[in-house]
Amino acid sequence: MKKRSIHATNFRKVLELFRDERGQEAEKLLKIIQEDYLELYNENKELRSQIKEVADILDLAECMEFDGQKYWIDEETEKTGPYCQVCYDKDGVLIRLQEREKHWECYSCENLFVKIPTGNIIHKSRPKKESKPPLRLFS
Ligand SMILES: [Zn+2]
Repeated sequence: MKKRSIHATNFRKVLELFRDERGQEAEKLLKIIQEDYLELYNENKELRSQIKEVADILDLAECMEFDGQKYWIDEETEKTGPYCQVCYDKDGVLIRLQEREKHWECYSCENLFVKIPTGNIIHKSRPKKESKPPLRLFS
């Protein structure tokens, strides 16, 4: 079967063929137009699903949180993750990290993400604030 292109002029041609009483040729052409239509219909459907896919990714991107090294998905109902930053930024895929004692590990790219010390430890390492003497209102 030779490759057809969709021509709007085919509609006019059908009309002309009918007028010339070349009904059989007109029918053949109508069949071609119908096939073209189905082809367009399927292409349209495919494009629509691609658009939906992109929209879903954009929705997801809105829920993504970056903690400085890993991604989390923070939806209204729950927070999931963490996910590998390298895999997501490179290939756009979400790979859930495997938790180890002191780090998170990506089984796909094999990157390691060191666990950030908890707030208490950070707090301890901070220089002690000098306590100011209380303000004297009356002397
Ligand atoms: Zn990875």
